[in-house]
Amino acid sequence: MTAHSITVRQPSPAEAPPSVGPPIDASVDRTLKLIAAGSASGSSCAPALDSAPWMLDAGPAGSLPEPGYGPGASQDDPLPGAAPRQGELPASYREATEEELHERIRSAKTELGDRVVVLGHFYQRDEVVAHADFVGDSFQLAKAARTRPRAEAIVFCGVHFMAETADLLSTPEQSVILPNLAAGCSMADMADLDSVTDCWEQLEEIYGTAPDAAGRAPVIPVTYMNSSAALKGFVGRHGGIVCTSSNAAQVLEWAFERGQRVLFFPDQHLGRNTAKAMGIPLEQMPLWNPRKPLGGSTEEELMQATVLLWHGFCSVHKRFTVAQIEKARADFPDVHVMVHPECPMPVVDAADSSGSTDFIVKAIEAAPAGSTFAIGTEINLVQRLAAQYPQHTIFCLDPVICPCSTMYRIHPGYLAWALESLLDGEIVNQITVSEDVAEPARLALERMLSVVPAGAGR
Ligand code: SF4
Repeated sequence: MTAHSITVRQPSPAEAPPSVGPPIDASVDRTLKLIAAGSASGSSCAPALDSAPWMLDAGPAGSLPEPGYGPGASQDDPLPGAAPRQGELPASYREATEEELHERIRSAKTELGDRVVVLGHFYQRDEVVAHADFVGDSFQLAKAARTRPRAEAIVFCGVHFMAETADLLSTPEQSVILPNLAAGCSMADMADLDSVTDCWEQLEEIYGTAPDAAGRAPVIPVTYMNSSAALKGFVGRHGGIVCTSSNAAQVLEWAFERGQRVLFFPDQHLGRNTAKAMGIPLEQMPLWNPRKPLGGSTEEELMQATVLLWHGFCSVHKRFTVAQIEKARADFPDVHVMVHPECPMPVVDAADSSGSTDFIVKAIEAAPAGSTFAIGTEINLVQRLAAQYPQHTIFCLDPVICPCSTMYRIHPGYLAWALESLLDGEIVNQITVSEDVAEPARLALERMLSVVPAGAGR
């Protein structure tokens, strides 16, 4: 995957056609506002989605709601106490109109020129993607930033672990900025360094630390890209490796050449779906619940384990169900159902195909005109694809609009603030990975790249 191939230029909202509803409007924000105004049919999972995300920032008066991930798919997930909070956005951004914010962003970008690169994740709101120099998944974006070595600042419109990965892969002279510090990831937060270290110590007690006759370690840790830099560092220090949703099978093969079993975190669904497709029986995949002794399994069950699955999940992809697939097939007999492997196993099994966001985008690009797709991934990407490919019928499997809560926290107001601060010589919301963590984390990423060279995995 070259950086060029993930560059997707969107018309700015000012250039975009007037809002006409979900089938042809790429903007989930506009759709939510239309629904709230009664001008469009449909429903969302949270009424607050049509208001500005700074309503959730910690204001000076401390008068805001309980800390949480905010409206959207992760709204009921518990936010760790140590999760970063975003301070109040200055009033000149909160009070600006949408058009003013877009103009300020365009103007700041023009003035900054090569000094800045803006990255936009596939799941970002369209109003932010409109200003991105590159659009893609987290690893594609981190690599794309490397093609702009003259950029002093990398503004990552995604979530916290993505900004950390960009910092790992950027030069020491570059600063990585996350426009809203509250843009975490509830799945990544489900595995922290303390609980994974505790799990590791329990596994060492059961399995020992000596390799078998074939020289394979008792356990190889594998972390999904969607994890903190601290956990990437953990796997780097313990002979482990990072994977993406594109290359998880190749990475597991690498791990099984070096270990008798794998500890996979934080996403149980990606781990289970991948291992099952490799022929590993479900009874050899116990779930590790960090709140229970031995993760909730017996010692005998752990001795039979081939893949230990961390009790983590993505609340966006957990929403998809087999019943939604059945309805899509009833409504559109020719539909092709395509889902992300972070979906639960029954959903992946019932779909026609599953794969990463890149896989989904490429499958739609390659499809003959007139194809019908029901997609099981985040709504911002699905709705943008539907607008970009009007020759197809493309819709989200979930009829309720429920975007990723943390991607939602990035808004043009924060992007304008980050860029104009740069113009004033100030770097706000810099994300930095300390060198003691960065070194083993890079090792784990390099191991992945040795298995699946950049862009080779699907
Ligand atoms: S879609 Fe899921 S995995 Fe991705 S950032 Fe949102 S919560 Fe995290």
